[in-house]
Amino acid sequence: MANTDPSQASIQADIEAVGKIPVVDSILEVICHTTGMGFAAVARVTDQQWIACSVRDEINFGLVKGSELQLETTICHEIRQSGERVVIDHVSEDPKFFAHHTPAMYGFQSYISIPITRTDGTFFGTLCAIDPKPAKLNNPHIVGMFKLFSELISFHLNAIEQLDASETKLIEERKGKNLQELFNKELSTANKKLAETQYNLQTMVSKLTESEDKLKQAIETGRMGTWSINPSTYEVTMSNFVKDMFGFPIDQEISIEEIVDAVDPDYRQMLMDVLGRAIARHESSDVEYPITNVVTNERKWVKATGKVFLNADGEAMEYSGIFMDITERKMDDIRKNDFIGMVSHELKTPLTSLSAYIQMLHAKAKKTEDNFTTGALEKANTQIKKMSTMINGFLNVSRLESGKIQLVKHEFFLDQLIRDMIEETRLTVSSHTVRFISDDPISVVADRDKIANVISNLLSNAVKYSLKGRNIDVQCKIADGKAQVSVKDEGMGIKQQDIDKLFSRFYRVNNKHTQHISGFGIGLYLSAEIIERHDGRIWVESTSGIGSTFYFSLPLSR
Ligand code: ADP
Repeated sequence: MANTDPSQASIQADIEAVGKIPVVDSILEVICHTTGMGFAAVARVTDQQWIACSVRDEINFGLVKGSELQLETTICHEIRQSGERVVIDHVSEDPKFFAHHTPAMYGFQSYISIPITRTDGTFFGTLCAIDPKPAKLNNPHIVGMFKLFSELISFHLNAIEQLDASETKLIEERKGKNLQELFNKELSTANKKLAETQYNLQTMVSKLTESEDKLKQAIETGRMGTWSINPSTYEVTMSNFVKDMFGFPIDQEISIEEIVDAVDPDYRQMLMDVLGRAIARHESSDVEYPITNVVTNERKWVKATGKVFLNADGEAMEYSGIFMDITERKMDDIRKNDFIGMVSHELKTPLTSLSAYIQMLHAKAKKTEDNFTTGALEKANTQIKKMSTMINGFLNVSRLESGKIQLVKHEFFLDQLIRDMIEETRLTVSSHTVRFISDDPISVVADRDKIANVISNLLSNAVKYSLKGRNIDVQCKIADGKAQVSVKDEGMGIKQQDIDKLFSRFYRVNNKHTQHISGFGIGLYLSAEIIERHDGRIWVESTSGIGSTFYFSLPLSR
């Protein structure tokens, strides 16, 4: 395979070129959705380096744009040498790859990587995807889709290169000539150049349209569609797949009102808010909501991602994105959720009676001054309390997901609640020193029990994720017109890449320090939901190896 020895600067330029391809994000999204794989990337692969140019990482694989892997540890290295694609459905059952060092090192079971070849025949890199679970990849549909995407990327790289080259040429020409000469000559050649440029532009536009059609085709085969809204007129265009999901006639224009009418009433306001924010603030959007097909009355769950495209003046020109059918996944989630709710509910009753019996026995043992039994029953009681907190956590997740959580708000002193919670913690935790600093009494209108849950969760995490003997500093003050609480520990800290995901359901940081600390990853998720429902904010500042400070703020009572 033909190859050059690219310099660092040209590799950097290649990464930037991939960044300029407008469809790359959509391509990686379509790949993950269609194959069910969690990580997809466009990689620049030379005979020295493997560098990620664009990445979609839903499994916390840990690579971002610009990350480098040691070339010899990758299969892409072999693909660069052979020019052949590699597709593995299930590593452990693959006769060629079951003992290969790469899957063992990176922990994946499914893998696909297709070469990206430049139009001049040189090898650029690969379009690849991996996942810890097996996947069905070895079929013409998936391989064909990857080949199409790889060609599309190559086409765009070429277009970008041509545009850059003609721009540089024009600048160079302008620099080289003296002004007088330029004035005379440019007048005479201007028309010719204009005609040439126009011709080039037309060819480029028709090629781009062709590539856009190909992308649309690929998107529709992956049971997805595209949509677009004009930010000034709110005119909507949508692909046939989207119309079909709603039950709208294919050959008819659809208004935004008709779409909103088909959306579940509970989700309409949220959808309009997202739309308004995206257009006004140029924010990207990602929403999931149920719709009812206007013909069949069938209820479906859909996910729509959107991005605002700006013109040269920085004004919103188009708001568009991808639309997909997620009914199956959502139904699975709902079933799982119902199950969690049912099991937690059923577990509560026997646990309550167990707790009552233990308390009775405790009282009896105390009377007879049986110190051993009293001590053992106190320990049993502590364990029951832990179990009950866990079960309540699951019950709350299930309630939250099904929209059944309700806030009972009244006015109370937040600083007093924190003082009570710290006292309670001190009764069971002797390993850490918890210190409290507070200004004057701070009054809020909120659900006292639920805010107590948030504080208790932050305190128990500060204990769990820091070594014995360390300090925990809690503060309650007024900042920016809000009541602000912070819990600071001197623990293991959290890496930047984990911070964004920390408040997601079931998310736990997975490293050698956290492996032996038990938990389900629901405490922070519940805390964030509770604070958000109070129109508050929750966030964290952390340095890995130094410690973390978790904050939340609530509106003050007036
Ligand atoms: P759990 O602790 O049960 O896993 P949480 O939702 O409370 O669940 O926390 C999610 C993850 O955030 C934890 O698994 C842990 O990795 C990280 N984390 C939470 N609090 C801290 C902290 N104070 N210091 C370091 N990491 C933390």
